[in-house]
Amino acid sequence: MLDSVSGKDFVVLPRLVKLTNRSGTEVRRTIPSKELRTIGAWCFLDHFGPVSGPDAMRVASHPHTGLQTATWLFEGSVEHNDSLGSKQVIHPGELNLMTAGRGISHSELAVNTGNLSGVQLWIALPNEFRNLAPEFQNYSNLPNFEIDACIFRLFVGELYGHKASAKVFTPLLGAELNVPAGSSIKIPLNSRFEHGLLVTSGVAEINGSTSEFGTLHYLHIGGSSVEISSRDGASLILLGGEPFAEEIVMWWNFIARSHIEIEEFREEWQRGSERFGAVQDSIHERIPAPPLPTVNLRPRGNSIL
Ligand code: MN
Repeated sequence: MLDSVSGKDFVVLPRLVKLTNRSGTEVRRTIPSKELRTIGAWCFLDHFGPVSGPDAMRVASHPHTGLQTATWLFEGSVEHNDSLGSKQVIHPGELNLMTAGRGISHSELAVNTGNLSGVQLWIALPNEFRNLAPEFQNYSNLPNFEIDACIFRLFVGELYGHKASAKVFTPLLGAELNVPAGSSIKIPLNSRFEHGLLVTSGVAEINGSTSEFGTLHYLHIGGSSVEISSRDGASLILLGGEPFAEEIVMWWNFIARSHIEIEEFREEWQRGSERFGAVQDSIHERIPAPPLPTVNLRPRGNSIL
């Protein structure tokens, strides 16, 4: 669904997607969508929770290529295990950033039975970096600051002169923003970036239009600021980046540049190739790849460009 908001901005409504067959967890996905493939190199945005119970997140070992995964929680904690041997419990205010590069596998398991909520994002790697060796890092010391009574937690890029140390490969911005009841703020934007604002709690006014919980408000490149306010208080995720110029093929957990590459990655995962290694975790399961579609996957670019 596409709503015309004001001039060139628009709103993407989330669609509900089951994360895995085994876990009942449903996530709200806003990119990729019919209307919007990417925001900069951000190419995947799942918003989940609040959910509770041991199955709040139970995603067994699965592979990735050609991307970084970024996990950011609002509540709860999740254990990450990967084929490099990383074992990391992530908490709210921390960033788990996994660079798949040429190939990695990982599992993600909720570690308590309280409420769990957060976002998981993917970042497409540009061609020259997509075959890097895989890497995993947890960032727990990220910029945290207050402007006009609003609290910012910066996890990628630069904002208000603060800089996050997270290692990314294209110009990007990622931040959580809490707007207290009755507050308003005008945030300066990099006019070379396109931006998106996902409402993760409450209701926000964005450039004068109302954005409900779970919706993504898209801002084209060229804007130098955005005005946000909230009558009863709201939290948002602010994403930005220079429009991603390359065409990519995204299928299942892989990003590639051609159908043939996707076929190879799928076949390598199915036969347990060293490309993806093995994950040591408490559930000892791996998720098999679904069948390939019967038509050839074609490279796609940013539909907004
Ligand atoms: Mn994953």
